[in-house]
Amino acid sequence: MKKIYFTVGPSQISPSVYAHIEQGLKEDILSLSHTGKDFIDLYKRVSSELKLLFNIPETYRVFFTGSSTESMERIINNTVYKKSAHLITGGFAQKFYKTAIDLRKHPVPIEIPLDKESNFPELHIPQDTELLCITENDTSTGMRIPLEAFSSIKKNNPGLLIAVDIVSSIPYVKVDYSIIDLAFFSIHKGLGLPAGLGILIVSEAAIEKAQFLYKKGVAIGSHHSFISLAEKEEIFKTPATPNVFYIYLLEKVIHDMSTKGIEGIRLETEKKAKMIYDFFNKHDRYKPIVHELYRSLTTPVIDVQGNAEHIADRLAERGLIISKGYGANSNQHIRIANFPSITEKHIKNLLISMEKCLD
Ligand SMILES: *Cc1c(COP(=O)(O)O)cnc(C)c1O
Repeated sequence: MKKIYFTVGPSQISPSVYAHIEQGLKEDILSLSHTGKDFIDLYKRVSSELKLLFNIPETYRVFFTGSSTESMERIINNTVYKKSAHLITGGFAQKFYKTAIDLRKHPVPIEIPLDKESNFPELHIPQDTELLCITENDTSTGMRIPLEAFSSIKKNNPGLLIAVDIVSSIPYVKVDYSIIDLAFFSIHKGLGLPAGLGILIVSEAAIEKAQFLYKKGVAIGSHHSFISLAEKEEIFKTPATPNVFYIYLLEKVIHDMSTKGIEGIRLETEKKAKMIYDFFNKHDRYKPIVHELYRSLTTPVIDVQGNAEHIADRLAERGLIISKGYGANSNQHIRIANFPSITEKHIKNLLISMEKCLD
């Protein structure tokens, strides 16, 4: 039976990827050196195509990391002397916060309620905060933070750097880089590729902060410090041997998305999310856990009152693989990926099967 992965990451592989893998093998990408001209050209193309597709300013750097968990650590290391503040929206925001604790910083958690409206522009950011960390789409709870609400905070605190985790909302999310200094994602969620590559987008201001910390004697890391990454990025090389094959596949997928049109992808995402939420809004017992204003369009989370395992198992018998809840909520919630590789037809089939599996 062919399975469809509605899991929130790794997720359903984009259908075009199989042909790209074959093409890559034919082109001998697996033997390609990361210091040769072909790789330099590849890095250049990926960087400029990402910038074009996602409206990233020319001056921002595109770095490769091993994962987004690594990117969190690089960001804290390179931009925080003492204090970061973290909007706590679920398990992934917690992970970012804990990274700062582990690195012996003094992070401040700011709890955001899931089920109430928040006044984000008026949010109290503690004095001396150097970095504000926002998990734009927290995959554990399905809560989405409206980034545009932070433009006044950025205007009033020009020295404050803002980092956003967009791991499970790319390519849907729109980031206004006049507000955002750092953004990061992995390729194994909305981009429909296998796991094992992180992308980290960094402003010049963030690089200057790393240089400042380094001169001050702060440990900012070694081969993947912003200084080391930036030095190499200038000549489109990397401080360590990167996953060249996945970078190759990333370029292909970015190209596919540009050809299809990013606005069309966003509209489809909205349409499919509406189908999912309409279904559960009508359901008499199982409901979305997040306030209407902040519901994730890419990873909806539904409270199924302790029946997650049962539902997931029954759907799996039909080849439909969904995620159970995150951490302690494993049996309380289900999570459904609504990434571009999931089609409207897939969602329709899932919801029809849901009817039969929910009781
Ligand atoms: C999956 C995920 C991560 C972690 O990404 P890795 O590449 O697996 O380290 C971080 N943040 C969010 C919101 C995620 O969904």
